[in-house]
Amino acid sequence: MIDFELPEDVKDIQRRVAAFVNTVVLPAEAEAGEHTTAEEFDRVLEGLRDEARASGLFNPHLPPEWGGLGLGALGMAIVSQECGVSGLASLALNAMAPDEGNMHLLLETANPEQLEKYLRPLAEGRARSCFAMTEQIAGSDPTMLATTAVKDGDDWIINGEKWFITGANGAAFAIVVAKTDPEAEGRNSYSLFLVDDGTPGWNVIREIPVMGTHGPGGHCEIKIENVRVGPEAVLGELGQGFQLSQKRLGPARLAHAMRWIGVAQRSLDLAAERALTRETFGKPLARRQTVQNWLADSAIDLYASRLMVLHAAYLIERGDDFRQEVSMNKVFIAEALERVVDRAIQIHGSLGYSTDLPLERFYRDARAARIYDGPSEVHRMVIARNVLKAAMSGGGTKPATGGLA
Ligand SMILES: Cc1cc2nc3c(=O)[nH]c(=O)nc-3n(C[C@H](O)[C@H](O)[C@H](O)COP(=O)(O)OP(=O)(O)OC[C@H]3O[C@@H](n4cnc5c(N)ncnc54)[C@H](O)[C@@H]3O)c2cc1C
Repeated sequence: MIDFELPEDVKDIQRRVAAFVNTVVLPAEAEAGEHTTAEEFDRVLEGLRDEARASGLFNPHLPPEWGGLGLGALGMAIVSQECGVSGLASLALNAMAPDEGNMHLLLETANPEQLEKYLRPLAEGRARSCFAMTEQIAGSDPTMLATTAVKDGDDWIINGEKWFITGANGAAFAIVVAKTDPEAEGRNSYSLFLVDDGTPGWNVIREIPVMGTHGPGGHCEIKIENVRVGPEAVLGELGQGFQLSQKRLGPARLAHAMRWIGVAQRSLDLAAERALTRETFGKPLARRQTVQNWLADSAIDLYASRLMVLHAAYLIERGDDFRQEVSMNKVFIAEALERVVDRAIQIHGSLGYSTDLPLERFYRDARAARIYDGPSEVHRMVIARNVLKAAMSGGGTKPATGGLA
């Protein structure tokens, strides 16, 4: 029999995170809204982090030797769903994008000196980081990335530009993807570099104004002009930058999908409450079949999303190949999120469109989910490629559909 029961320790952490989000994070949302100053936001966040530390919930994703709870993919799936309810929750637990993914990447690839210099301040919540891959000329297709790192004695000189780099303004360091071997085949020509904030030539030009909300440091445009770094700045093996980025992005994509489930669940909770209490033409909205269909379709979207996430987390924990399943998660849940939030707004009418409720903010933020971490269309291209590969191998397409029984 398949066991869908969560292990006791995961159930326990789920209860504790849910209680923390409800009693500590949600009441703080009003003080840390979109129009709060950076100083005020930092003050509120520091307070939340102190409470998270005191509640033993800080760094759920890190191993105990780094001050964390040592949760695996399943534990983090559950924690992230609870955190998705509020944009502040992952920040409070120090498990927010892009730092969570960067911390995992450092743990897997950094040498002891790099761990001490870069992971330590992130793990202690004293610093933020960013991951600088995308360029204006290269987004979906990373083999077009043009930033170069050229050897000069023992040093490297980096030149290029980066675009939409989340959290770059005020980040203590960036993990930069740059081409180190123009002769090598596309995927093997890139390497990763750790670039400290304040390095001459590292210029954060601006935080790009966006449709949705963003966390500390915005989404930034960066100019990299003759940035000189030593050999100690290389992260992982030379020529492995692309592969390491993909390795980072797999679980990071799933982490986003998990948070989106939390947002969708909160939207459905609000929608159902409104449907029960709002009357039109002598009946509550909950008695109208159209509204019932919206509630049902949202419940179906959430059920499918949760099952997909749990299965992908299971594959990650077993060390199995999870790329096809994570791509399917990313596409389905990003699109389900939009549907669920949209229905919740419609059920609320004008109130849903107003900024009195978080739904309009969820709607703006949801629009980006189909673009970042790879647009839906690019994931579909990869998913379809695997379907066709399976078909061509003669064994049918089932292995490319999640590999379930
Ligand atoms: C909120 C947000 C945060 C981000 N944070 C970061 C970050 O921290 N670090 C970072 O490096 N990058 C970041 N990005 C950039 C993100 O990774 C890119 O936006 C994404 O890879 C898409 O690249 P692009 O925007 O250049 O779109 P393009 O590559 O120009 O693609 C545009 C559109 O073309 C379509 N398309 C592309 N290829 C195909 C195809 N093969 N088949 C069919 N249709 C296709 C898709 O609809 C796609 O949306 C962020 C983006 C957003 C929106």
